[in-house]
Amino acid sequence: MLTVLGCFIGEHDLWLVGLAALICSLASAACIALLHHARRLTGGWQAAWLGVAAVAGGSGIWATHFIAMLAFEPSLPTGYAVGLTVLSLAYAIVITGVGLAVALWRALGLAPVLGGVILGGGIAAMHYTGMAAFEVPGHIRWDPGLVAASLILGGVFGGAGLKVGLAREGLRWRIAGALLILLAICGHHFTAMGAVTILPDPGVAIADSALPARWLGVGVALASVAILLMAVAALLLDLRERRQGALARERLHSLANAAVEGLLVCRGTTIVNGNDSFGALVGLPAGDLGGVCLSRFLPVTATPLALAGPPDQPIEASLVGAAGEAIPVELIVRPVTYGDQPHYAVAVRDLRARRQAEGQIQFLAHHDALTGLANRASFTLRLEREMKLAAATGRKLAVLCLDLDRFKEVNDLFGHAAGDALLVTVARTVTELLDDDQLMARLGGDEFAILMPCDHAVSAGKLAEEVLEALRGQNSDMAGPTIAASLGIAVYPDNADERALLLSSADTALYRAKAEGRGTYRFFESTMGAQVRDRRHLEHDLRGAVARGEMHLVYQPQADVATGAVVGFEVLLRWSHPTRGAVSPAAFIPIAEESGVILPLGEWVLREACREAARWTNPLSVAVNVSGVQIHAPNLVPLVQEVLRETGLRPERLEIEVTETALIREPARAQATLRQLKALGVRIAMDDFGTGYSSLSNLRAYPFDKIKIDSSFIRKVDSNAQTAAIVRSVLGLGRGLGMSVLAEGVETAEELGFLVGEDCAAAQGYFLGRPSEIAAFVRHTHPDPEAAARHDLAA
Ligand code: C2E
Ligand code: MG
Ligand code: MG
Repeated sequence: MLTVLGCFIGEHDLWLVGLAALICSLASAACIALLHHARRLTGGWQAAWLGVAAVAGGSGIWATHFIAMLAFEPSLPTGYAVGLTVLSLAYAIVITGVGLAVALWRALGLAPVLGGVILGGGIAAMHYTGMAAFEVPGHIRWDPGLVAASLILGGVFGGAGLKVGLAREGLRWRIAGALLILLAICGHHFTAMGAVTILPDPGVAIADSALPARWLGVGVALASVAILLMAVAALLLDLRERRQGALARERLHSLANAAVEGLLVCRGTTIVNGNDSFGALVGLPAGDLGGVCLSRFLPVTATPLALAGPPDQPIEASLVGAAGEAIPVELIVRPVTYGDQPHYAVAVRDLRARRQAEGQIQFLAHHDALTGLANRASFTLRLEREMKLAAATGRKLAVLCLDLDRFKEVNDLFGHAAGDALLVTVARTVTELLDDDQLMARLGGDEFAILMPCDHAVSAGKLAEEVLEALRGQNSDMAGPTIAASLGIAVYPDNADERALLLSSADTALYRAKAEGRGTYRFFESTMGAQVRDRRHLEHDLRGAVARGEMHLVYQPQADVATGAVVGFEVLLRWSHPTRGAVSPAAFIPIAEESGVILPLGEWVLREACREAARWTNPLSVAVNVSGVQIHAPNLVPLVQEVLRETGLRPERLEIEVTETALIREPARAQATLRQLKALGVRIAMDDFGTGYSSLSNLRAYPFDKIKIDSSFIRKVDSNAQTAAIVRSVLGLGRGLGMSVLAEGVETAEELGFLVGEDCAAAQGYFLGRPSEIAAFVRHTHPDPEAAARHDLAA
């Protein structure tokens, strides 16, 4: 009896056995490589490459078997039945093909193992069909135990071969798979050969049709060449795929690194790969991330939460950087297949910038952007809270409203940047004085408010004094505009027990502080509210006053100082209120300016005055007061032009009086308007000179024809050396600049005498004539009544 080992060593030509092993290894390696290639394809291409792999594998099994059979030297003549030999080749290829196809069946969990077992079946089918083709003069006996062992070996190593060979992409795995297939083929073959016992019988003849062994060699050689070719094809394919794989990996890597967000690929909770952004986020080189446990960067609680949560759902977590710093992040986890294995891709978005922006938005919603103080909304909330608290504790709550004095002029004169800087200084200076339980807010523009819980209203007065003192202190070290403020104080519950009323009471007190000289503070008094209401009523009544015929004009003569002759009239507006009686323009003009009523009112005055002057036979001048609001309105020049045309008044008879302060708001615009008026032929007078800025540069910059010295300088000018000096210098100024000078408010002969002595050109005042109806001056406007009558008749 021939045992397996005895059979292998004693009855085989070992050179040929070596060749069989070589062909077998080549075929196994080619088969695994081609199978990998087929796995990447789909449809017809996959089937075609599966076929090639089946041919490589099947013919490898077949060639191995027959080379090994050639190596088998049973010292008897041998031959091979042609039909069965061909059939054995067909079995090898077809069954191997089925096995390989099953191995690629993705839906099946153990597909590679099952496919490998089928491949083992293919080896067996080939082997025993090939043995059936083997003819020898004798009888072949089989050892059933070894036959069974050969089947088991083929199946087990086949299954393991495909399982390992397909497990990973790497070369090591492929070689291991190919070696296991080699073991399946060779193990099966030699075990099966060990199961053979040949009992020689000269009575058994070899069929004539049987293929002699040397002929078989030709077939085997052909099959081997085919295997070689397919192995080369597999090698080339493999090289190409590796190149493409490396390229694709490189591209993927660059793409991952180009991502702004951090990207991680994890297997379980271990990081396999990370991009540069993630590296930068945690402060480690991206190359050092592989193999690190995810929980090193993500707290223990966040890691399982992120990985187990629903895919593509952002989860907020706190990332721990290499230096231990906490970084707020958003994680998006998605299962991915990476290197044929299930992995997690984790996108890590840095939330620091977003958090910061959210913080800023939150801050801006409650604070003023310029000064950083609480804004009106948060002040209101705090006020309500503090009022409730005060009610519960029986304490008082003072509200101090602070408003800058002449802030508009600061903006106009020094520009908005200087205005902003001033607001910031005020905010800083005042907040430095406040305790923790006090709050300062900017309610808008130059309006501030301070909340102060206290036990006595007196403390609020003290705080107001400190605020005014601190603001005054700021002026000494500031080269820019002067800071001055007024404050109004209202106290809860003494003055009001309701939020809006408390605020408006503080506002009323502030209004009073401003009216009484500015740069000071006032407590709210119950009478103040009435005054504010009164002002509102006046504003309301003013709107319809012209239409109701409550307005009329009076005229005040302007005389030549030397001759006493009337040279013109200033037009002054009078309001006869139905219930209040005569209301002074000093009282209603500011209200008209604030409410905008001055525009229609001023137009009415201009039209009436020009119409009246145009009727005079004596071409005296007529001076009309024009407010700053009118100067800055866009239509003043066309309006004057239209009124002159409509009334027929010659332009040089009209004089426009403006005060210096009316020009300050937009000097360039005011200058342009005055120049255009002057171009019409109209004359321009600077009213109340000495009460505004009295600036020489203003006198030069604007096209004035006349300076009107304010009445405050004329009062007792004959006996007051100081005012006399001022008047003298203004007269000199007028002469120097080529402007005539008119003295206002002359009430006595002495004052007039002084002006005569100083060679002042013109004067106006009660001494020369009080403002009256024009009818009172008919001898001046119509010096020749008969000529006037003739003129009227002719007209
Ligand atoms: P103004 O333009 O300086 O007008 C002169 C003011 O001084 C007038 O007061 C006039 O009555 C008063 N006055 C004249 N001579 C004397 C005097 O010898 N002694 C005293 N104590 N006062 C004298 P009035 O009419 O009350 O006007 C006050 C201001 O109201 C005017 O000052 C002017 O700025 C403004 N105003 C009057 N009418 C108009 C108008 O139609 N339009 C505009 N925009 N403002 C007007
Ligand atoms: Mg005037
Ligand atoms: Mg005046």
